[in-house]
Amino acid sequence: MKVTEHFAKAKGKTLISFEVLPPLKGGSMETIFSTLDVLMEFKPPFIDVTYHREEYIYKVRPSGYYEKAAIRKRPGTVGICAALMHRYEVDAVPHLICGGFSTDETENALIDLNFLGINNVLALRGDARQFEERFVPHEHGHKYALDLVRQMVSMNEGKYLDPDIVNGQKTDFCIGVAGYPEKHFEAPNFDVDLAYTKKKVDAGAHYIVTQMFFDNQRYFDYVDACRNIGIEVPIVPGLKPLTKSYQLNSIPRKFFVNMPKDLVNEALKAKDQEAIRQVGIEWCIQQSRELKAAGVPCLHYYTMGDTDTIRQIAAAVS
Ligand code: FAD
Repeated sequence: MKVTEHFAKAKGKTLISFEVLPPLKGGSMETIFSTLDVLMEFKPPFIDVTYHREEYIYKVRPSGYYEKAAIRKRPGTVGICAALMHRYEVDAVPHLICGGFSTDETENALIDLNFLGINNVLALRGDARQFEERFVPHEHGHKYALDLVRQMVSMNEGKYLDPDIVNGQKTDFCIGVAGYPEKHFEAPNFDVDLAYTKKKVDAGAHYIVTQMFFDNQRYFDYVDACRNIGIEVPIVPGLKPLTKSYQLNSIPRKFFVNMPKDLVNEALKAKDQEAIRQVGIEWCIQQSRELKAAGVPCLHYYTMGDTDTIRQIAAAVS
């Protein structure tokens, strides 16, 4: 079932969903199963699986020379989605990114997803790689998530890149895109960023999932701003609890979001790591309850491998 059909079927009830990361290369599916076996009690209608593009590392050869080698730390998004749908009664939402893919490769990935019966996709641009100053698209790939949305919409209309395909079978993808209540870090200002988000929706995206935020007012203002410029699709809040002291710096640095004064003060007062985790859990529960009371379609939790924390929050909210 499509993500938007789940929202419609829920008739205003707030759903709960989770995002998981593929295991590290060489790891096993058990790491994901052990996370989800616990979280399935909350009956998520869909699970997102992130995509991680290759990174480059430098290996020292016996000759002493360095060799640049591409490594994939977390492969397997598509296979993991198929495995999740097979094991649980749940829809899987693979994240698909522009970075590292030619449009042909993207088409092939979408054809595979269609064959597997996976018809939800979160369409993203992806970030710059570790050694790049800015995002560099594949020379035959997409520059923006907007272009990926357009490619998927074309396939939904039966139009493929390959000119030899005539009367191609229509796919039926439900397309999600990212939104940023605190603005995407590269955008010159909030309004410009929002206008680009509207383009993704006008091009055919069916729903938006937000970047994490710690102040619900940011989300409420974002939804108002979207509605004011005519974005009508569901806007799913993405939530991640603070759990460790170093995240007071790493989360703002990595995700370009602010942490409210009260949350930071409470975390700084905490005696140890467990006390900080409890502050983060309590904060996220309050955020979730307020969002649920406001009638959001779904609370979408970024699990980041921390099953216990997410389970405590989901249990308090459901
Ligand atoms: P875009 O919508 O393409 O926007 C990127 C930037 O370009 C923005 O500043 C925007 O304002 C600007 N822009 C957009 N269109 C145009 C245009 N036509 N002309 C000029 N400027 C334009 N990354 C991963 O690698 N894997 C994941 O699994 C993943 N999952 C994510 C899930 C969520 C919910 C979110 C919020 C982010 C996720 N990311 C993931 C991170 C994401 O790839 C980065 O935030 C990336 O920098 C931007 O992706 P986007 O799809 O928002 O890009």
